[in-house]
Amino acid sequence: MAVHAGRDWLTEQGVHAVPIDLSTTAPLGSVHDGGLAYEHMATGGSHTAGQSTVYQRLWNPTVARFEAGVAVLEGTPEAVAFASGMAALSAVLLAAVAAGKKHVVAVRPLYGGSDHLLASGVLGNEVTFTTPEGVRAALRPDTGLVILETPANPTLELVDIARVAAAADGVPVLVDNTFASPVLQQPFAHGAALVLHSATKFLGGHGDAMGGVVAADAGWAARLRRIRAVTGGILTPWPAYLLHRGLATLPVRVRAQQAGAEKVALALAGHGLVKRVYYPGLAECDPAGIIGTQMAGPGSLMAFELAGAEHAERIPAAVGMITHAVSLGGIDTLIQHPAGLTHRPVEAAAKPHASLLRLSVGLEDPADIVADLVQAIETTR
Ligand SMILES: *Cc1c(COP(=O)(O)O)cnc(C)c1O
Repeated sequence: MAVHAGRDWLTEQGVHAVPIDLSTTAPLGSVHDGGLAYEHMATGGSHTAGQSTVYQRLWNPTVARFEAGVAVLEGTPEAVAFASGMAALSAVLLAAVAAGKKHVVAVRPLYGGSDHLLASGVLGNEVTFTTPEGVRAALRPDTGLVILETPANPTLELVDIARVAAAADGVPVLVDNTFASPVLQQPFAHGAALVLHSATKFLGGHGDAMGGVVAADAGWAARLRRIRAVTGGILTPWPAYLLHRGLATLPVRVRAQQAGAEKVALALAGHGLVKRVYYPGLAECDPAGIIGTQMAGPGSLMAFELAGAEHAERIPAAVGMITHAVSLGGIDTLIQHPAGLTHRPVEAAAKPHASLLRLSVGLEDPADIVADLVQAIETTR
């Protein structure tokens, strides 16, 4: 599915590789037909075959192919792509607020940017941060969304999606599936109404294309397309092409990175200077048995704790092959300090501990990754 999804139209177009459609505008035919096509797409409709696509902000074939691919992999009727993961989350929030449901229940921890967006209220929302067990008690009559992330950023906690969906009592649940990717977890099948990705991470997989996507049913997709059309947070054709291309190798990359991560996690767990490793593949990190039921495998992200914050802060500057950088899910291994970087805007009480580092394991030989980490840990002690 990952190889073929979104490529259905190629044979009839007489091409084999996926083309990039760059037009910002399109021939309209008659004023009447062009006008109807415009109105249809500007109010959330999808492009109708044989009609003008009108304008790139409304619809683009390259973007639509990527969306079709994501929908297939997530098992949802549709998907709607955006300029970034944050543009995707903003569109969902705006849709909820516009429907008069301005209250969000958010399960912490979340990605620092998502936490910041929700807490700031700049899009007119109010938020109650809680735990999976606290969701039901946090609901209000104006709650329009329950948001959770699993595995969660940065400590890789696993959340039982079906349990939260039941507790949400009919309020739509959005699951940020960025860390798992659809290869390891398909939240829609567990009761999520909306599945969000920062496509910048695993879906693209090469650290060279930014995008976001929300997989959902037709009703949500129409609302999100309408918001996208009026606010303009569109995914453009170049990154859409790269993100779609990334889908073809997604299962192979995710499984190979995961195999490497399992070895790296064990090596770190066995190192005397590492206080604790947070990796869903370690039995103590999955007390509820999520791996093998909701999630097909533990993935390739982990966090590890040193005895002190100062030691942790010295390590990112001491790695060699590994890159000290934010982002994750790509072909090469990245390390970063969540409290100082990605989770900097999070309020103090919910901020990760400063002795914690996050690692995104890439496709390098796991022995090389371990050797680099061990030298960095030991030379900075
Ligand atoms: C990176 C990230 C985001 C934000 O996505 P951008 O593409 O950077 O806007 C949201 N959620 C998670 C889990 C992320 O890792």
